[in-house]
Amino acid sequence: MSKDIDWSNLGFGYIQTDKRFVANYKNGAWDEGALVDDANITMNECACVLQYAQTCFEGLKAYTTEDGKIVTFRPDLNAARMADTCKRLEMPVFPEDKWVDAIVKTIEANIDYVPPYGSGATLYIRPYMFGINPVIGVKPAEEYQFRVFTTPVGPYFKGGAKPITIRVSDYDRAAPRGTGNIKAGLNYAMSLFQIVEAHNQGYAENMYLDPATRTKVEETGGANFIFVTKDGTLVTPKSDSILPSITRRSLMVVAEKYLGMKVEHREVQFSELKDFAECGLCGTAAVISPVGKIVDPRDGKHDEIAFPSGMEEMGPYTKKLYDTLTGIQMGRIEAPEGWIKVIA
Ligand SMILES: *Cc1c(COP(=O)(O)O)cnc(C)c1O
Repeated sequence: MSKDIDWSNLGFGYIQTDKRFVANYKNGAWDEGALVDDANITMNECACVLQYAQTCFEGLKAYTTEDGKIVTFRPDLNAARMADTCKRLEMPVFPEDKWVDAIVKTIEANIDYVPPYGSGATLYIRPYMFGINPVIGVKPAEEYQFRVFTTPVGPYFKGGAKPITIRVSDYDRAAPRGTGNIKAGLNYAMSLFQIVEAHNQGYAENMYLDPATRTKVEETGGANFIFVTKDGTLVTPKSDSILPSITRRSLMVVAEKYLGMKVEHREVQFSELKDFAECGLCGTAAVISPVGKIVDPRDGKHDEIAFPSGMEEMGPYTKKLYDTLTGIQMGRIEAPEGWIKVIA
């Protein structure tokens, strides 16, 4: 029985659901893990995560498809990305097949919270891991917890996706050869100041440039960029300090295989932005947020790049990309092999 929730008026916030998956790493090994009721975590005051931020996460969604199945989208890629993140943070990898099993079990245990087809809402799944034993001299923890919880979230855009205005940030997101390419909590902690400042100045997001030269486009705090040229080529920025978005990688396939577009994954100069026809941000939360305008307030001149697609609606290529990918996720369009994992 579906929960009595007003699905179409849900926001993007935390709502506690019934069960969460918890596995513990101790004496060099993971236990089997189990679903538990308690949403709270008790840990020592000196836990490594609290002192030295040894924590990472993932994010994916479960959907109800047009024909009533409950599915999730490419969880194997989230498992692989978390494994990469764990290695960089000296954390023990939770085996990728068991990782996907844990996601499936957690969705099954909270199946009544998966919003119905057509509501625009989805069940957001948050896997995460942290060092939990006391650590005061700087070193990796010896004990870890891997957890997965779910929370139903509303449509990211109520009443359709209006293009947003973003600014170029005067702060950097990730150092060259730093941690920009992994999904570490620390990348978000240091972005909070900038996002609050951006919002206070009336911008929806920050565009970060490459920290070494500040001439190339990287990403925002939590989404990759897509651009479309005037002749319909999808261009996505390439850099070792960008987080490899699964949405972006999927859109590249959709563009090429479903829409017959040319696709380029390459360095993108800030100076070429004015030549693009469309711009968007992509990630699991919103799939694509169209960007209408980019302001560069850094030298006090507030130079503006206004994309020809305007401030009223998504550009035509962005819309096709959005409709095709969400169509695949919602079961209206046939998915490439292995993209959809059926839960129930
Ligand atoms: C999670 C994240 C994204 C989006 O990745 P998806 O796999 O598409 O959800 C983009 N950039 C950053 C910095 C992220 O943390």
